[in-house]
Amino acid sequence: MGLEELAVRLNDSDYINWLKAGRCLLILKAALHPFVTQRTRAFHGNLLNQDSLLKEPCANSACRPRGNTLSSACRACSQWQTVILRHHRQRNTTVNWGNCFPPHWRTDHWELAKAYMPRGQGKVKGADQCDASALLNLISHCDCFHTVDLKVVTEMLAADLSMQVSGLDGVDSVDLDGIEFDSVSQQAETSADSIGQWEAELLQERLQELLGADDGDDAKTQDIEQLKMLGGFLQANTDLSQRFSTELRAIKSLEARE
Ligand SMILES: [Zn+2]
Repeated sequence: MGLEELAVRLNDSDYINWLKAGRCLLILKAALHPFVTQRTRAFHGNLLNQDSLLKEPCANSACRPRGNTLSSACRACSQWQTVILRHHRQRNTTVNWGNCFPPHWRTDHWELAKAYMPRGQGKVKGADQCDASALLNLISHCDCFHTVDLKVVTEMLAADLSMQVSGLDGVDSVDLDGIEFDSVSQQAETSADSIGQWEAELLQERLQELLGADDGDDAKTQDIEQLKMLGGFLQANTDLSQRFSTELRAIKSLEARE
């Protein structure tokens, strides 16, 4: 199971902090997902009920963002743009139009939600595919969430999510000798396995983000650099290089194309 290598990684305080923060964000995401879906669906429905122009289908096949801008849109899409800006909680902000497919604003609440989110959401189809950061951005940018006290979210993000491996006395320190593998210490092994699962889940999410990123040259260059670093890290850990062999091959083929 690679528990020895996991234990070595958990002796790195930066790494364990990353794991803790990531775990916290995954819990937050799971909690936010149904709430955000319900609220954005209701917001979309209310907009349609209040403005008959928004119910008109897109009339121009050219209603597509170019980069991050959307200009010369049809009457209905232009109205959607106006309404989206009207409901933005931050005035004079940059809206990431590049996230959106305007002809679907009328029929898909998530196409609307993406206008309030960070760039790079173009292929995302719902809240379940977003990370916690993207969902928090939506909550803080769209006034359909005006009842949410953002301080509560901030407190939650700042909370200490201590990790303890059973059988070990340290909280942020894991002693390689502390993890036992005999049947008597089954609980310790299970707990270490759980941490290994969180770690795999977080790494998988990060790899998907970086391998799936498709917007902007700057973002690409930055993502490729981060992919190289992540690839090097996975390669240096036998258990992870085996688990993520497919992704490692994808990283190598990207590097070869450079
Ligand atoms: Zn249109």
